Amino acid sequence: MRILLIEDDAFIARAVAAALESEAHVVTHAADGRSGLASLAAALPDAVLLDLGLPGMDGIDVLRRIRAMPAPASDLPVIIVTAREALESRLEGLDAGADDYILKPFHMSELLARLRAVVRRKGPLADEVLRAGDLALNTVTHTCSVGAERVTLSKREYALLAALLVRPGAILSKRALEEKLYAPGDEPEGNAVEYLIHALRKKIGSTRIENIRGLGWRIRETAK
Ligand code: CA
Repeated sequence: MRILLIEDDAFIARAVAAALESEAHVVTHAADGRSGLASLAAALPDAVLLDLGLPGMDGIDVLRRIRAMPAPASDLPVIIVTAREALESRLEGLDAGADDYILKPFHMSELLARLRAVVRRKGPLADEVLRAGDLALNTVTHTCSVGAERVTLSKREYALLAALLVRPGAILSKRALEEKLYAPGDEPEGNAVEYLIHALRKKIGSTRIENIRGLGWRIRETAK
């Protein structure tokens, strides 16, 4: 998943981003509310982790603005990550439309579990399992299988395959795939996408990802 992390504490942001990336998520970090909203408007993430105590615009205001956006942005799963333990601030956050809360300090495993639960409950990726023929990719557990055989994917292989499987048959350009794989500002190697496709084909079968010359790639509904 693509996760937008709005957090002004650089230490916490780095730790959370590292934990999420180790679980094959792509993290965009914003250090304040305004840049967070700008990032969200530029590319919709699958979920938002939102700190409440932010410089400038408060986290609750950020949340209200997200909920006031046109759909689908208004429906984004938002988890508030906060040090404020006061019940009042929790209630205020829920009133403003938070999907869940996690109080600092927290264990990464708890954060990851809550994120999975919230996305499972209401994520834009409504289908947990993306399929094309006998190829299946579980977007919650990140497991991939071909028939009865389990396939282990790297985090970028997972992200690339998920992007193709969300709309089987649709052609995704190299640029579109790079946007799914890399956070804004990351400079991928010129042929990173081609390398990943090559690696994926070795794992899931060479004919499942079809190259459409000059346009991009698409997943085949059935293996040849
Ligand atoms: Ca803060």
